[in-house]
Formats: sequence, structure tokens, C-alpha cells
Amino acid sequence: MITVMKFGGGCLRDGAAFLKVGKIIGRQKHGVAVVSAVSGVTEMLLTAIEQSKQGEKFIPGILARLAQKHRVIIDALGLSGREEQRLLKTIRDPLTRVRRLLTGIAYHGDLTPAVRAKLLSYGERLAARLLAGLLDGQGLPARALDAHRVGISTDDNFENASIDRDRTRKSLAAKAGPLLRQHTIPVISGFFGRGSHGAITLLGRNGSDYSAAAVAYALKAGRLEIWKDVEGFMSADPALVQTARQLEKISFAEAAELSYFGAQILHPRTVEPLAGTKTRVFIRNLKLPESPGSEIVAGKSGREEDVASITANKKLANIRVHGAGIGSKPGLLAGVSSLLAAANINIHSVLTSHTCINLLLDSGDGPRSLQRLKALANGVIKKIDLEEHLALVGVVGDKIMEKEGIYARIFTAVAREKINIEMAAAGASAVACYFLVRRTDLDRAVRAVHDEFFGR
Ligand code: ASP
Ligand code: MG
Repeated sequence: MITVMKFGGGCLRDGAAFLKVGKIIGRQKHGVAVVSAVSGVTEMLLTAIEQSKQGEKFIPGILARLAQKHRVIIDALGLSGREEQRLLKTIRDPLTRVRRLLTGIAYHGDLTPAVRAKLLSYGERLAARLLAGLLDGQGLPARALDAHRVGISTDDNFENASIDRDRTRKSLAAKAGPLLRQHTIPVISGFFGRGSHGAITLLGRNGSDYSAAAVAYALKAGRLEIWKDVEGFMSADPALVQTARQLEKISFAEAAELSYFGAQILHPRTVEPLAGTKTRVFIRNLKLPESPGSEIVAGKSGREEDVASITANKKLANIRVHGAGIGSKPGLLAGVSSLLAAANINIHSVLTSHTCINLLLDSGDGPRSLQRLKALANGVIKKIDLEEHLALVGVVGDKIMEKEGIYARIFTAVAREKINIEMAAAGASAVACYFLVRRTDLDRAVRAVHDEFFGR
């Protein structure tokens, strides 16, 4: 049985973390690794793009920092002199390519989405080389594989591509299968793939979870383990609720809802490639490698408690579009959403009434959105305003829609704390209920709901 193990940037932050990862991989008989970039490297590359647009003079410094970041790790892997030299050599070529791409950006003063995607892919390519080098050094033959070369196949969206799992399976099975038969561990770079014409495409921030799921599908893995350096799914943020506990099982639908609004534990599309398969999916914690972690299951979680988890998001803004009768004006909502879409602003949720449209957005997008929407102020729209004092509480659980009284308990628990609910959405998801409170009330609201369902 094949186990695909994905290691996030936090699991690859330094030499010590790499060594832990090496041990975990060493325990598997038929393991395949998928990696993110070393922690912070994607950000470095993003900064590098911005700096290079200003001119060539920044490039030597950028490259020195990037090389140094990886060399420090290599230095801490305990490799023999020869192995270390070999590994240093394997990162030379990707670093050269990064330099060339940045030089191109500096000359041009700008870059295309294709060049941006290519450049950002180097973080994962470097990390895969480091991990393969470590495994080799520990006597576990391994090979770093670049995602586009092994055929992680996607559509042609450069920033947020969708994976074609069947094209991926054809190509990856042919490329990784023989390695596995020779007991060589494939170490595949996550986060990117190849579009229909062979260009590099990105799977969105934190996309290597999604890559790993595609790899698991392609290789018909029995297990997919997503390793993090933090707790997996919890009943609440332990920093906020002392009695928060780890969830043993969580359904795909619950996990997707939790990822959507709450902490980014899992890329929201991770589970898509595995739909209809028997692959078991686990979130594991590198700090507690013996703990089984949380299993993400298809169908129902089978949990006893009525809810799974209470999440919170402070970084939200609400835009209110007011006007008499706007709820009955055809095309108005389409106008609003296309204006925002043109500015690449994502709307998390929409709540409308006859006199008001509420748009929930990331707080960073608030002022920009307000500016854009002013273009719409005409006869029907009387006023558009931005509320930045709100926070969202999400209560997730697969019994929420099925069992009577759960909403009542949630709202009563909040009312008992004398917290006002500013807005609520129920029923938009079968497994989640969302409501908004003032930011200053958020922590108390989360604790109140957690206490109600999990006890004090
Ligand atoms: N390195 C990429 C990012 O930071 C992808 C990932 O971490 O999964 O978004
Ligand atoms: Mg990352």
C-alpha cells in the first residue's frame, strides 16, 4: 500500500525539521513525498519579483539570501562531505534559473502570469531537492521530481489552476511507478503543475495539499498524510479556548467549511481529486508524530457531539449596499459581483434583503471594494458603506442541518453572554452556520458556543 506524505513549509523550516521529516518517511515501506517550499521561500520569491521590477541591482542580494536559506539547511543535515557537495550542486541549476528569470523581469520592468508561475515554482523545486538529498544520505534512495515533468496536469489558469486527475494519473503512474518498484522514494514538488500546453501553472497559495491529493489519486495510494507543524483540526483554536480538543474524525464537507473561513489547515480543494476513492486522508502533526492526527472521511464523521468545531475570522469586512427596492432589481447583484471580480476581489458571502445587499469580504479588500462599487451609485442605490468592526463565527458540524435545536442552542449560548448577533446565515451549507458579531465580542462568543457543545 502506497502512502503519500505531504510536508508543508513549516515542516521544512530548518535542518532539525528536515531530519524529523526524514525519519517519518523512513518508517514507510512504500512512501511518496510531496513538498511545499521551505518556510518563507514563497514569500521571498514574491518579494523578489517586486524588487526586480525596480531594477537589476537587487538581484544579487535576493539570490544570496535564497541560496543561503537552503545552504544553512543542507549544512545541518549531517551529510558526508561528498553527499553535501552533490546536493549543493543540484540546487545550483534552479538558482541560476531564478536569477535569469529575475533578470528578465528587471529588463522588462514587468512579467507575465506565466513567468510569475514559473518563478514561484522554484521554491518547491528546491525543497524537493533538499529532501531527496537528505533521504539519499540516510541510505533511503530518493529522487526529486519536478511536478510539471512528472505530469501533474492542470487547466491553463496560471494562478489558481484546477488539476485534471485523470491526465495526471496517466503520466504520473508511468513516471513514479518504476521508481517505486526500484524502492526509490519519489519526492515531488507541490504547488504547481503543467497546463495543457506544457507551461507551469500554480495551484493557489498553500496548493501543495491539493498536489498531494492528486498524487495520491494518481498512484492509488491507500493513505494520504498531510503533515503540519501545528495541531490539525481542533474543536476551537486552543489559544482562544483552553478546553479545545483534537478532532479524531472530520468529514470532507466539514473540513472544507473550516478551511474556507477559519484557519488554513487544508487547501479547500484538497479533497476534490480523491472523490469516490478509498484513500484515507489524515492531518498529522510533526510535533506529535505518534499521535494519529485527524482523519478526514468521506460521508458522515460519525461523531457523537453535535458540532465539530467553532472557528473565527477577524479579518472580514462587510459592505452594505442600501436602497429602496434593490432586492427586486434584476441584474443588480450581477453588476456588483462583476465589478468586484474585475478587481480580483473575492466575495465570501452575500446576504440580501429588500433594501440592502451585504457583501462579506476579506478586510484587506474593503476600502478597494468600496471605491469600485461607488461606480454603481445611481437611482436605486442610495448609500454604500463599509463596516470594519465585525468578525465572523463559524460553527461547523455535519449534524447542524439534520438535528433540531442546534441553531437554538448556538444563538441562546451567545445571547446568554449578552452578545448581539449582527447578521447570520443559516442553511447556506448543510454543515455550517455562520454569524457575525462585533470584533470586540468575538472571543467571548466563540467560548460561549464551545462551552455549550463541549462543556466547560
Ligand atoms: N509554497 C506555496 C505557498 O506558500 C504552496 C504551499 O505552501 O503549499 O503558498
Ligand atoms: Mg507555504
